[in-house]
Amino acid sequence: MLHLAIIGSGPAGYYTAEAALKRWGEEVHVDIFDLQPVPFGLIRSGVAPDHQSIKGVAKRYDAVAQAPNVRFVGKVAVGRDISIAELQELYDAVVLATGAPSDRTLEIPGSDLGNVFGSAAFVGWYNGHPHFADLAPDFAGGHAVVIGNGNVALDIARILAKVPQEFEGADIVAHALDALRASKLTSVTILGRRGPHQIAMTPKELGELGSLERARPRVDPADLPPEAEDAALDPGMRKSIQHLRAFAADTPSDKPFTINFDFFAAPHALIGDDNGGGAVQAIEVERTALVDGRAGGTGEFYQVPADLVISAIGYRTNPIEGVPYDTAAGRFANEEGRILPGLYCVGWARRGPSGTIGTNRPDGFAIVDRIAEDFPAPGNKRGRAGFEALAAARGVDFVTFRDWRKIDEAEVARARDGAPREKFVAFDQMLAAAGKH
Ligand code: NAP
Repeated sequence: MLHLAIIGSGPAGYYTAEAALKRWGEEVHVDIFDLQPVPFGLIRSGVAPDHQSIKGVAKRYDAVAQAPNVRFVGKVAVGRDISIAELQELYDAVVLATGAPSDRTLEIPGSDLGNVFGSAAFVGWYNGHPHFADLAPDFAGGHAVVIGNGNVALDIARILAKVPQEFEGADIVAHALDALRASKLTSVTILGRRGPHQIAMTPKELGELGSLERARPRVDPADLPPEAEDAALDPGMRKSIQHLRAFAADTPSDKPFTINFDFFAAPHALIGDDNGGGAVQAIEVERTALVDGRAGGTGEFYQVPADLVISAIGYRTNPIEGVPYDTAAGRFANEEGRILPGLYCVGWARRGPSGTIGTNRPDGFAIVDRIAEDFPAPGNKRGRAGFEALAAARGVDFVTFRDWRKIDEAEVARARDGAPREKFVAFDQMLAAAGKH
């Protein structure tokens, strides 16, 4: 019997479990640990609440979770409740599938002003992640700025621009929907430090901005490169640029909300009130020009009004004590997923925050190949029996998949009309729904 511990129950974790079942069948025991009492990681807490079709992939993970030799072990903090070294004592292989839950920080003056957030926190807030439920962003001002030209920046701009009716069928949590319902925002500016040909936005997500109820996307035609240059782009990027060209050609409408694309605009400083404290009021931006594909400063500065700022400039994996970490890349130091003997990483924790949910599937299968190469014969570790003994001795009361089912049912039962669920946003609410206290 091979005992496998997977840390993290998001896409990378469940695809790894699926691959392990395919390879070893009944000859493997898989324990999938998670910090939260609920599974599915990024699917629950990262994917936009109005993108339910993407969230549908969790059904596939459900099927894996049903296998008798796969177990969800929720509400266990690796590094606090149990160490990596202890897990390695108990399991033949430990796979870190912990994703990249922290923001890359925006290192400019004023980042500590009020109403300035990183995308992990802001996305976590509208998705009901318990760590960010109390974020309380203020929407009383007119102008928001989102920094970054990736899909997360697009998600955030879209969420800020939608009217409540456009969240029908979405699992946005009540505290976020209520706050957005009272929002006084009339514009979102999306700042990109490079140009339209350097965006990291995919066509479907970009196209959605063109059909919002009250919001109109605006691109300055002068920012667009000559159309002939689009021919050199890959087909996906070409489609994305076509959307930007359509936004630039669009005639003004009476839609009251604007989503401005401000290209060649590098954030330089956030500006608050004169006392230095308080909330952000504007962002100072430096006009850039491309130099060998990079954003070079031109020395020209200007200000964009900003009552709310969200930086969506990428994510980092959280370090774990004793696990080699690549600080520059913001992920675990690894060779094709191997970190140390018996210790592996997969998904964003291995390669950084890139690609789609589906990119993690081949990743999961590849890491199982590595493990199979390293463990040609089953070991004699104690696996889950050993973990249970240790958890009992330590008073660690973990959550099972059956407990999650109860939480799931309770969330579905309390959904507002038309919504798939109303998530619990605190651990104690989740545990109460599971009947755990
Ligand atoms: P991302 O795709 O890496 O984009 C990060 C953006 O931030 C880039 O435009 C980057 O510009 C910019 N940036 C980085 N540092 C900056 C700085 N100091 N100042 C200004 N701009 C800066 O990251 P992401 O948007 O967080 O997305 C993460 C992954 O999740 C991506 O693979 C994304 O496609 C995926 N995702 C997919 C969906 C979907 O499919 N619907 C939704 C959300 C996320 P440079 O290019 O100039 O570095």
